[in-house]
Amino acid sequence: MLIAYTEDRKRISLVQGWKIDQLEHLRKEKRFVCPVCKKPVRLKLGTIRRWHFAHIEEARCSVELEAESDYHLHGKEQLYHWLMDQKIHTLLEPYLSSINQRPDLFTFYEGRYYAIEYQCSSIPLPVFEKRTKGYLQEDIHPLWIFGGNRMTRKSSTFFSLSPIEWAALQPHPKMKNILHYFCSDNNQFFSLINIKSLSSQSALSQMITTRANDITFQDLLKPQFLQENSWKDLWLTVKKKWRYNVVLYPSWSQKYFNSYCLQRNFSPYLYPIEAGWPTKHHEWIETPPYIWQTFILIYLSTYPLEARFTFQNVYHFLKELIEKRVCSTRTLPYYDGHYSYAVMSYLQLLINRGVIKRTSSKGYFRVKEIQYPKSINEAIVRDEEFASQIKIN
Ligand SMILES: [Zn+2]
Repeated sequence: MLIAYTEDRKRISLVQGWKIDQLEHLRKEKRFVCPVCKKPVRLKLGTIRRWHFAHIEEARCSVELEAESDYHLHGKEQLYHWLMDQKIHTLLEPYLSSINQRPDLFTFYEGRYYAIEYQCSSIPLPVFEKRTKGYLQEDIHPLWIFGGNRMTRKSSTFFSLSPIEWAALQPHPKMKNILHYFCSDNNQFFSLINIKSLSSQSALSQMITTRANDITFQDLLKPQFLQENSWKDLWLTVKKKWRYNVVLYPSWSQKYFNSYCLQRNFSPYLYPIEAGWPTKHHEWIETPPYIWQTFILIYLSTYPLEARFTFQNVYHFLKELIEKRVCSTRTLPYYDGHYSYAVMSYLQLLINRGVIKRTSSKGYFRVKEIQYPKSINEAIVRDEEFASQIKIN
């Protein structure tokens, strides 16, 4: 914590240019309490870690759930100065008693309240959801900025995201979605844009690096980054990877998928050409797209050509797989919608590619056989053909 009160109710903020001897003097004279629980806190003036207040061990605080690292304290201070330098009045660690939450930073900007959470450590997903919903319920926009130390970059475009990072995904009209990180070691923002879900953790995305001096709060809220156009090639790389992917220790759901395919006389690596594509809203489903889309295609094959089926039929089929935990979905507190949107968008892709057609009575029917490639080489050629006929952006 960077804020505490003296016992005579004076607020002490450590970001306000103190000298060490002033604070040492203050520490001799005064006792400090936590602004939230009013329990005693110690002023720590070490040389290694940033100066901060910490609860005395026995005193557990209702809002302090995680220990703050120096990286976190430093970043919080930098973000505070970054906002104040833009003449955006910002409160540091204010306690919002109505929801019993204390964001790292709090500000009012262009008619809206923002709670900024600089998240450098891991917190359980339910805690993340509770905090996010708490702010939203008070009409405060929560802005999660993750510590740059958390970013797991596998290559220039492949990333591994934790459940809370997925949950912090914010939709964006042009860039699909966006996620921000801040590195307090080099005072830089990293933004992931157009994040495409490949599995429960892995993602394909474009990373934009900006020095804090070159970006404003407005830029962070309404970014206008330039986007790459190479998604098609990248996605084909992903599809190829899934075809060559030999998982040493497959998960239960992967095993289920493998045996499901084998029972139907095709190898899981030779999954249909029509499966494994990014569609609108696919981030709602954690399971790799080639898996959930193959399940849907197999299901559609149970209907003879020209036989009518409905969206509800397909939705209930997937819902059962989700209930059996073969497929899994995400909670996206910033999104309006549901995983059924992903199913709807996928059916639209199949319509666009002439695999199914819509009937006049809100139903669908299949007009083409599903394409099961006979070899990986054939699959790769036909995946490329398919990709050239759809829009991947
Ligand atoms: Zn406390």
